[in-house]
Amino acid sequence: MSDIELPFRTGRITIHTDCCRNCKSFACVKACSLFGTNILRIEDGMPSAIPPIEEIPRRCNECLACEHYCHEYGNGGLDIALPIDGLDECVTCSA
Ligand code: SF4
Ligand code: SF4
Repeated sequence: MSDIELPFRTGRITIHTDCCRNCKSFACVKACSLFGTNILRIEDGMPSAIPPIEEIPRRCNECLACEHYCHEYGNGGLDIALPIDGLDECVTCSA
């Protein structure tokens, strides 16, 4: 199964579904209900977004709790990317 990509306002959540197959905790979903805006659910044994993908930037509060909980209590299958404009050039300059 392919990865799930969920774009939000300032970044992107990637769920590596191979890691989720044997996950017992679904900690990502728990975290979103505790600290986020309850936009994740379990569907057919996999985490998925409740709203349509185009609504996620408006609904996600960018709390980052799903990533923290996944790595702390789940199988480490969820990563959040937060691109910072100019960071690559900055790192290259100071090297
Ligand atoms: S906690 Fe992580 S590994 Fe478990 S279902 Fe959620 S994203 Fe997948
Ligand atoms: S960043 Fe927060 S609100 Fe957005 S999906 Fe993750 S836990 Fe839910």
